[in-house]
Amino acid sequence: MVSQELRRAEDMPLRGESIVFDLGNTLIFDPFDQLKEVVGDEAVGLARNDFGVELDKQKFLDAWSRANDETNWQFASHFSQEEPWIQVGLKEASVAEEVRILLGLQILVIYRRKFKELLEHDPRRLELRETLEQLKRRGKHLAVISNDRSFATKSMLTWIGISDLFDHVMTSEEIGIEKPDPKVFEIASKFFGKPISDIIYVGDDPVRDVDGAHKAGAKAILYMPPKAS
Ligand SMILES: [Mg+2]
Repeated sequence: MVSQELRRAEDMPLRGESIVFDLGNTLIFDPFDQLKEVVGDEAVGLARNDFGVELDKQKFLDAWSRANDETNWQFASHFSQEEPWIQVGLKEASVAEEVRILLGLQILVIYRRKFKELLEHDPRRLELRETLEQLKRRGKHLAVISNDRSFATKSMLTWIGISDLFDHVMTSEEIGIEKPDPKVFEIASKFFGKPISDIIYVGDDPVRDVDGAHKAGAKAILYMPPKAS
């Protein structure tokens, strides 16, 4: 199924050798709100069955969500989640430390397994793949630059079934700096072996993606993700 927009896009000239994508909310949408309830239910069962603890699901989820929204250290993965945010949730739900130390990691595993399943059944898979394949057929170099962690970025691309289509994947964790620092795009240009003026960067954030790319001398396209219904 190829949409009208894609068919039209196929006929338009794309003046750039290298089409580079942001990951979060461009290629892949944030799964947290979709997953937290079901992971919360499993966490309650796990706490009860394996640890003999009654976990207050709402308190746990509220505090975990808040930690996810408010905490932002470099290269943190909000999509595949980080254990410290789950620990905040368990702590605020008054779970004892000797339980939290194990339960937190097990909840993270449940979350990441559910995230993998979500991407393996993502309704955007086909259209995403077709779009990228069209660009490849037109001889474009394809790459990803993400502010995320390396293992998370590469796993997400694999789970959604498009990792084989990219010539390069570069993460901020690998290079030690994040977008919107224009140096990210300069380093990428060298890493990809493509002049900066040949790069078109596609991302959903006007500052991190568009301004950052423009300051480095690349072209940029602001992607507007569909609004959640
Ligand atoms: Mg993004």
